[in-house]
Amino acid sequence: MPGTNLTREEARTRADLLHVDAYDIELDLGSAREGGTFRSTTVVRFSANTPGAASFIDLVAPNVEEIVLNGERLDTANFADSRIALPNLAAENELRVVADCAYTNTGEGLHRFVDPVDGETYLYTQFEVPDARRVFANFEQPDLKAAFTFTVTAPTGWVVVSNSPTPTPEGDGDVQVWKFEPTGRISTYITALVAGPYVGVFDAYENGDQKVPLGVYCRPSLREFLDAEAIFEVTKQGFDYFQEKFDYPYPFAKYDQLFVPEFNAGAMENAGAVTLRDQYVFRSKVTDAAYESRAATILHELAHMWFGDLVTMEWWNDLWLNESFATFAEAVCQAEAPGSKWPHSWTTFANQMKTWAYRQDQLPSTHPIMAEINDLEDVQVNFDGITYAKGASVLKQLVAYVGQDAFFQGVQAYFKRHAWGNTRLSDLLGALEEASGRDLKAWSKAWLETAGINVLRPALTVNTDGEIESFAVLQEAPALPAGAKGQAVLRPHRIAIGLYELTDGALVRTDRIELDVDGPRTDVPQLVGRHRPAVVLLNDDDLSYAKVRLDEDSLAVVTEHLGGFADSLPRALCWASAWDMTRDGELAARDYLALAVSGLGRESDIGVVQSVHRQVKLALDAYADPAWREQGLARWAENAEAQLRAAEPGSDHQLAWARTLASVARTDGQLGLLAGLLDGTAELKGLAVDTELRWTLLGRLAATGRADEAAIAAELERDRTAAGQEHAASCRAARPTADAKAQAWADVVESDTLTNYVQDAVIAGFQQADQRELLAPYTAKYFAAVKGVWETRSHEISQQIIVGLYPAVQVEQATLDATDAWLASAEPAPALRRQVVEARAGVERALKAQAADRAAGARELGH
Ligand SMILES: [Zn+2]
Repeated sequence: MPGTNLTREEARTRADLLHVDAYDIELDLGSAREGGTFRSTTVVRFSANTPGAASFIDLVAPNVEEIVLNGERLDTANFADSRIALPNLAAENELRVVADCAYTNTGEGLHRFVDPVDGETYLYTQFEVPDARRVFANFEQPDLKAAFTFTVTAPTGWVVVSNSPTPTPEGDGDVQVWKFEPTGRISTYITALVAGPYVGVFDAYENGDQKVPLGVYCRPSLREFLDAEAIFEVTKQGFDYFQEKFDYPYPFAKYDQLFVPEFNAGAMENAGAVTLRDQYVFRSKVTDAAYESRAATILHELAHMWFGDLVTMEWWNDLWLNESFATFAEAVCQAEAPGSKWPHSWTTFANQMKTWAYRQDQLPSTHPIMAEINDLEDVQVNFDGITYAKGASVLKQLVAYVGQDAFFQGVQAYFKRHAWGNTRLSDLLGALEEASGRDLKAWSKAWLETAGINVLRPALTVNTDGEIESFAVLQEAPALPAGAKGQAVLRPHRIAIGLYELTDGALVRTDRIELDVDGPRTDVPQLVGRHRPAVVLLNDDDLSYAKVRLDEDSLAVVTEHLGGFADSLPRALCWASAWDMTRDGELAARDYLALAVSGLGRESDIGVVQSVHRQVKLALDAYADPAWREQGLARWAENAEAQLRAAEPGSDHQLAWARTLASVARTDGQLGLLAGLLDGTAELKGLAVDTELRWTLLGRLAATGRADEAAIAAELERDRTAAGQEHAASCRAARPTADAKAQAWADVVESDTLTNYVQDAVIAGFQQADQRELLAPYTAKYFAAVKGVWETRSHEISQQIIVGLYPAVQVEQATLDATDAWLASAEPAPALRRQVVEARAGVERALKAQAADRAAGARELGH
């Protein structure tokens, strides 16, 4: 019984047999305002190289009305288990399938959303990985490309956008018909449809004779916040940069970007019709880090138009390459494109991507970048930190290894050679080998076929005159966590070593040495005989992917002067290193707190500031000795209030500290300040207490029992939007009462009516680190329910519950024991098992870190 799964073997067999020419797809969305189902008619023409053979086409639908193969009507009983069996194929075939497909509220397939502001219905599709089959019958695998012609019936007055340019609709009744031109040959997962009374803003990218129409869309209720000019500006920079570096013109007829509601991911690279989460239309003040992140997403999706859409992976095992390339491309474009507002993008990359990758790579579920993807269930849990972040980090290392010019020359050849086709990793590596003259087989084996992170440590001796007598880079390959796939190995690293001197409190780089590190020990004779600098920083410029440790003297200087680095990148690397040591129990949570309190005042990079804020909160909640934890939280809250009051009025730092105070406020004075900001009796110069910040403040007041249902209802009255409803649901679930918790649990686990976004908000409110006792009964309830959730909910919805409701706040041996007992008895499917094992690893790590923090506390007392 395949259920909704599809194995790689089945896909390969089908691709060997079939060639798909074209689809004509008619969708009748006249029912959109009522919901339920819509009529979907697919006519697909395809050939089979073995006449008489059988195959199948994919479809997830409540009802199939008609199946006609080569003029002959097939029994609808051929539709079973999300497939339609196709017996006795001819050389050339025409198949017609008429079905009733369902609107969804999970963000998968054709998502239907009603905006409470105007009561209007908004639709969009999201098909990656296998959800085009929820909208029309198709051969759902990336290597069966075809031309798609959509004909859409929708209410008159709507806007309908797809991969091809939007035609003028026909008809003049309640509904009209949009007849789109055929697409080029593309994969099913990047086809798209967005429909509803969206509003658009238009522009064009022009370059010589080339003119590409650009559109930016959102719901009317967000229109006043849509800064289309800023979005077009970044988009055009991306067009210029990528067309030059890829030496291949943008391959589609137009480029629309649609900000859509309740979107699960950041964005999706549908060919010529990119969808993005509409939180990227900022309705309240956000920091520059949010603008930077939006720009990165815009560039990421644009890069996919070539890498992913024009040239597409044959099967999902190369998903990592698709995502890594786009993630690398977004950063290199921001770093280098003329006019870029974020030329420090490699700092952000180090701060976010690397941290994500290092965390994921130390989980029991870690795996080689080249993962074995045997079926669709494997790939759906593989949109992880290895696929996106480690892959992109390793690609950055590959660029350092072959040189950037050779890298792009190889990429250019690859696009020209494989345009509109499908490829494997070897096709790209082959092109890079030709361009660079380097043999990449050993490199690929060491980096792509293995798991885990290397640790690089400096080993140096200094004589009495302060001169370096010996210097080596030591490389370790720590054992992988139990259960992880792959082997820990040493790897070749191209790295830089930065030498920094301390002058008037500033750390200034006085030299940089670039070298290849290989094996357990690499001597660095260039450094022998030189004066020992204040700080020696391995992997400076963040070329390679490795955990880096500082020698004792450098660590002492950095601990005191972290803010003294003139450049943001070495600061980010040192912050990351300190955080990594905290996670590993090598630096006590209380010492990380001390570092943050002393160092953050001089940290200008707002993205780094916000990351450290999150990390300190996690360190205190999970990694601190429980006997000391409250002291640490109190100190952090005091510091947040002081920093908030001292921050420059109207600055990003002021907003970041306001949010952080709202995450940790505990005294009457602090909570009174939050309440005062909310009701207007308190004011901080320059701090805009706008819609989003109001909800942040109220969330803490609700969680601490200072805001009741009436207060939440009153806030919702002020913000009668979908986002307001989500925030209100989160606040209700956050209240510190047994009833509030029981209600939240019932809404999420015992009912399945919440939309993806409301459910996510309820889960976030439910889990409160300082409500451990109140949440204690839910550990047993979780393990009693989780398998049923996995078996009955959609992928996105079940993942939110499995990960979000795991008892992560109960950092105790009993949590590990309960998890182990469940793992032993429940026989979970691999994808479910993986999610629970990852959550368990967080608790196990926290227990170890707590022991380290306890030991540090005992040492302090001993003094
Ligand atoms: Zn992507």
